[in-house]
Amino acid sequence: MSILLIDSSGTSTGGLCNDCKMNFTFPIGFPLDCWEQAAAERSLAAVAAHLTPAILPTQNIAMYERRAEKLGVQLLEIRQSHLGTDGGVTLAQDLLRELESRGVVVSLKETATGVREKDLVVLTDRREIGCRSLIIAPGRKGFAFLQKLMDSLGIPYIDNIVDIGLRVELREANYPIVHDYYDPKFLFPEKVRTFCTNSGRAFVVKEKYASRDGREYFSVNGHAFSKRGRASGLVNFALLKTVRFTAPLASGQEFAEMLGLQAMLMGGGQPLMQRVGDFRLGKRSKAESFTGDLYDFEPTLASCTPGDISLAMPAKVLRGIWKSMKALDTIIPGVLHPSTVMYYPEIKLYGNKPRFLDDHFQARPGIYLVGDGAGTSRGITAAWASGIRAAEGILARQP
Ligand SMILES: Cc1cc2nc3c(=O)[nH]c(=O)nc-3n(C[C@H](O)[C@H](O)[C@H](O)COP(=O)(O)OP(=O)(O)OC[C@H]3O[C@@H](n4cnc5c(N)ncnc54)[C@H](O)[C@@H]3O)c2cc1C
Repeated sequence: MSILLIDSSGTSTGGLCNDCKMNFTFPIGFPLDCWEQAAAERSLAAVAAHLTPAILPTQNIAMYERRAEKLGVQLLEIRQSHLGTDGGVTLAQDLLRELESRGVVVSLKETATGVREKDLVVLTDRREIGCRSLIIAPGRKGFAFLQKLMDSLGIPYIDNIVDIGLRVELREANYPIVHDYYDPKFLFPEKVRTFCTNSGRAFVVKEKYASRDGREYFSVNGHAFSKRGRASGLVNFALLKTVRFTAPLASGQEFAEMLGLQAMLMGGGQPLMQRVGDFRLGKRSKAESFTGDLYDFEPTLASCTPGDISLAMPAKVLRGIWKSMKALDTIIPGVLHPSTVMYYPEIKLYGNKPRFLDDHFQARPGIYLVGDGAGTSRGITAAWASGIRAAEGILARQP
């Protein structure tokens, strides 16, 4: 077959180039409404056979599990590798080279603008390309693009789920579990979970998103470089609560946009940050909260605005997350040290759920929608597994 891969950016823009933790345990990264364990594990095995990941060791898990269970919290032990931001960039470049050496034509910095269904033609900012099969995987940044495309193709979908939360940054000494388990996955009551823990050379970053009417807002995130270089002595991780709208059915993306824009309003165009010490006293953080004594480390994303997260975050989300932080502090004493910084907002859009025609994520004849943008994955390995499933569907349709 002749294969063309187009991407609007110069390199991969997602987790491959942002920390690149890869999870090899079901159901991490696999939305359960799209995946059964057997199919996911078969694809995970194919991904692992190709990448031969170095799985990170874990230790002392039983101790944390015992403490967690008493609080109704679950600790999931998973198989994970970690390449770091630099290692991920190298992997992405190697994979592109490998594709090209196998005859795939790669066109970077080319943007798809639409699809003409009657003769299956992709419209881009440069040309029109006819094809027999089309896999569309625009990721989270392409969430709005995909919704517009589905509207134009008459593909029914719902997007009623969104994850909203904080990024927590603290001294490694106050979160020593990272020496035993690089990215500990705690599941708390009320659909709150820890997500994407980074340590070593770890940093909090902000990502820019555009709302449907073109206004910009930030969501924070975290990443770490591989072991080379000087450690920051800090850890960061997200605490996210899943919100699902039922009746009246609402768009998770629109809800998230409103929260993102509201945080921008309060932060003067920047995300908010607050020290736990101030939060516990019911006070906003100020510039002074970021100097001296108990407030003893510089936040890695210093451009955020010191403020009051409780003014910006919906009450139910805040309650669930604060309860989880207290539970976490009981499992790993130190989390609620006054110096711990909470950044807001961290938003994950996962909820595009197209109605598929078959098990291979075919949404219209010859058109497959996969990856985070289409809600078939929430992580790198599940995105790959989704691509494998679509490719198998295309092969099965070959005459
Ligand atoms: C900052 C960050 C850190 C993350 N860290 C991790 C991690 O450590 N571990 C993990 O498992 N997951 C992580 N993730 C999630 C992970 O990146 C995704 O699950 C995964 O990359 C999804 O793959 P995808 O192919 O669906 O989308 P992506 O990898 O996002 O790729 C989509 C591509 O489509 C391109 N595109 C979008 N619209 C168009 C268009 N109209 N025309 C042409 N090209 C277009 C984009 O440029 C992009 O390169 C992270 C995500 C982010 C944003």
